[in-house]
Amino acid sequence: MEEHIRDSALDTSANHDAAAITVARGDGIGREIMEQTLRLLDAAGARLRIEEIRVGAALYQAGHSSGIAPEAWETLRRNPVLLKAPITTPQGGGYKSLNVTIRKTLGLYANVRPVRAFAPFVPSAHPAMDLIIVRENEEDLYAGIEHQQTAEVVQCLKLVSRPGCERLIRYAFELARRAGRRKVTCMTKDNIMKLSDGLFHRVFDEVAAEYPELQSDHAIIDIGAARLAASPERFDVVVTLNLYGDILSDIVAEIAGSVGLGGSANVGDRVAMFEAIHGSAPDIAGQGKANPAGLMQAAGLMLTHLGQAEIAGRMGNALLRTLEDGIHTADLGHSSHTTRRVGTEAFTDAVIARLGASPRSLAPFPPGDNRGPVRVRTQALAKPKKQLVGVDVFLDWDASDRQANVLGEALQAVAGDSFQLKMISNRGVKVYPGGFPETFCTDHWRCRFVSRAASVSKDGDAMLQSQPLAREQIPELLMRIAAAGFDCIKTEHLYEFDGTRAYSLGQGE
Ligand code: NAD
Repeated sequence: MEEHIRDSALDTSANHDAAAITVARGDGIGREIMEQTLRLLDAAGARLRIEEIRVGAALYQAGHSSGIAPEAWETLRRNPVLLKAPITTPQGGGYKSLNVTIRKTLGLYANVRPVRAFAPFVPSAHPAMDLIIVRENEEDLYAGIEHQQTAEVVQCLKLVSRPGCERLIRYAFELARRAGRRKVTCMTKDNIMKLSDGLFHRVFDEVAAEYPELQSDHAIIDIGAARLAASPERFDVVVTLNLYGDILSDIVAEIAGSVGLGGSANVGDRVAMFEAIHGSAPDIAGQGKANPAGLMQAAGLMLTHLGQAEIAGRMGNALLRTLEDGIHTADLGHSSHTTRRVGTEAFTDAVIARLGASPRSLAPFPPGDNRGPVRVRTQALAKPKKQLVGVDVFLDWDASDRQANVLGEALQAVAGDSFQLKMISNRGVKVYPGGFPETFCTDHWRCRFVSRAASVSKDGDAMLQSQPLAREQIPELLMRIAAAGFDCIKTEHLYEFDGTRAYSLGQGE
């Protein structure tokens, strides 16, 4: 583990208001572009106190399965803003993604990726695009909770929490307000995932109402993604769940023009990590031709986060002017605007020489907002009344030619006095009672038991109402199911919250 205070012009004792940051130089082109980015930060007058950690290939080889040594966490705690160059992730089993480890360990809940085209200086099919994707970073299908439950079926749990949605969505609106954006678009698939994506959409609507000066709208992710790819200039800030955001971020980076130009931020309550969006590009490593602009843009995001936005603006505008002047690295393609093809160092020289200049035709970076990190607070909600009303029992069952009626009749017999078997579904399609023989069935069955309805009197009328269940009644039911010879592989309790059903109905139910 090599870790030391960097002796640099950025780290002078006169720098009383210097911000403490951690730098990781990474692998491949990472080391080259970090060197040049630090030169630019220095020349631009960034007030930084830098401590370095090592991450990446060498650490993986030394036996650290996440590519980071235990001591490095202490450094990150001391200097909670990390500027990280890309690393090379070893192929094969046993290695964990460093980025995922850092995000999860440090609670970096928001992934922020601004994407802008620099046409005509860098060719782009969408010259007017200028948007920010804000992606939830910790939840959704990325919780990494997967199980194989039967010979044929595996599952991945999608977890979405109200505080997780709320802080991310608040972050997106605060960022939009600070960055002078006009509109925030939410993308979900809540026409299908009514509870999980539905929660995200609902919280979005609640938070949007607190920002009346910003437009807000919602798009179903499939059509939203298609529109984003076809006409990205129609979008401003897009906020979405983890998986959708992962895909959208790469789509917009790809269509903007060059993977070498984008930077991103991963932000948490205490710690934030800034990096280029590209990888370590082993194919061009050591050749001095990598484009450092992506990491420079990430450094600009970092300075804004640290309350040094005017320096971020100086760096950003010098970068724009360099591109306008036709000084381009090899990855930027063939543009009639290219006057000079340069390597990493000469590109940085050109940017440094233009510090203080403004772009001539590209829109300059907006005047800086020096308020520092966007901080959000979530609101504590009154706990809803939770009532147990049933249980979904999942069975591994591969008998009697998988005829749902056979299973249904056997389970009716063990339901007992408190439960009734409401239905059985297979991969979400109801197959009992009244299933279709054409429905393909696997060995994985969801059997829904609900509390037997009792007759109650309301306003003088007799009506049937579900009875609340006691917790102990579920294991009693499971014991009866096991005694009848069935293999229960998992259960999901069915609840009502404040009297509202809080589980999905089966298809055909
Ligand atoms: P990559 O982004 O490294 O390279 C893709 C292509 O883009 C290559 O042809 C490369 O030469 C080019 N390219 C990328 N950045 C460039 C730049 N700044 N200037 C000029 N050309 C550039 O993606 P990859 O090849 O799939 O991955 C290489 C390694 O990077 C892998 O080990 C991967 O795991 C790792 N990676 C790390 C991060 C990270 O640390 N955040 C992100 C993505 C990939």
